[in-house]
Amino acid sequence: MLQKKDLIIIGGGPAGISAAIWAKRLGLDHVLLESNKELGGQLLSINNKIIDYPAVMLESGVALQEQLVDHVKTLGCELSTDVAIEKIDFINKLLHTTSHTYAFQSLVIATGSSPKKLSIPGEQEMIDRNEVYSATRDRDRFKGKKVAVIGGGDRAFEGALLLAEAGATVQLIHRSTTFRARNEFRDPVLAHPSIDVLTDAVVTMIDSSNKQLFYDRKERSYESQADGIFIRIGVEPNTHLFLDSLETDEEGYLVCDKTGQTSLPFVYAVGDVCTRPLLSSISSATGQGMTAVKSLSLYLESTT
Ligand SMILES: Cc1cc2nc3c(=O)[nH]c(=O)nc-3n(C[C@H](O)[C@H](O)[C@H](O)COP(=O)(O)OP(=O)(O)OC[C@H]3O[C@@H](n4cnc5c(N)ncnc54)[C@H](O)[C@@H]3O)c2cc1C
Repeated sequence: MLQKKDLIIIGGGPAGISAAIWAKRLGLDHVLLESNKELGGQLLSINNKIIDYPAVMLESGVALQEQLVDHVKTLGCELSTDVAIEKIDFINKLLHTTSHTYAFQSLVIATGSSPKKLSIPGEQEMIDRNEVYSATRDRDRFKGKKVAVIGGGDRAFEGALLLAEAGATVQLIHRSTTFRARNEFRDPVLAHPSIDVLTDAVVTMIDSSNKQLFYDRKERSYESQADGIFIRIGVEPNTHLFLDSLETDEEGYLVCDKTGQTSLPFVYAVGDVCTRPLLSSISSATGQGMTAVKSLSLYLESTT
């Protein structure tokens, strides 16, 4: 059955939720489509305290997720979770999921970003075995154990520090000789007696069932033991549905103007799908949601 909507929001993290709130406020007939069973996006994996979102200080991302879900449900936003989008026809403005077809006037893309993968043998098996750990949440289980952290940015360095401070012996493996991590993390990591920093080292295989990883360094191959392997090599925007139709930059982020408008006038992008990690946050994602929907409502008024 064909359903007609003024606005479809794709993605139910902070950016998409904010867009839904503003769609409701501005009287746009909308639906938010989320591929996960739950709304919240990356909030569901924030195990640290949230201290930088104005007016709320919360124990974790889940606490904020619960408040946001309450908020959209109380307002009566239209939400659909566990949705698989098959195709978007940008010419005829049709969106097909596995169960519905929507005709839309406008789209807000809020699909966020996901951790980058190494794409090496054994990585997916490790993920499938649910051996994906959070340095904040799981650090105590690695006290007295050996862990490997892969990456050279803030998240790798911060994770290495948290684990070492909790009593783990950490091998930090980075493929280049320079680091992207801020001094705030870099200096204590480089000085920490329990952190061994290996530069110019490329991880080639993971065998998590035997707690092993393999890497090449200076034309020699090595293996190393690790009770936990933390892959922290950055994030990438979730754009595969749009690559043929919308302009992206050299790192794959959707290109948009300061209101969020993309290379198509009826399509806006908000949050981490169009914002690089240095500037991404819950606050920027929710702010962009508001700007995009207000701008879209003016666009829709001008075209009817
Ligand atoms: C460990 C960690 C700690 C963090 N700590 C903080 C912090 O303290 N303060 C702060 O401000 N920020 C923090 N952040 C960053 C913050 O969480 C993000 O900037 C924010 O969540 C971005 O919101 P978003 O809505 O753009 O994207 P996301 O939160 O990534 O949400 C995107 C949503 O889109 C959905 N989606 C993706 N593809 C599709 C599709 N094809 N169809 C339907 N749905 C789809 C996803 O399932 C997801 O629910 C942290 C992030 C992490 C990972």
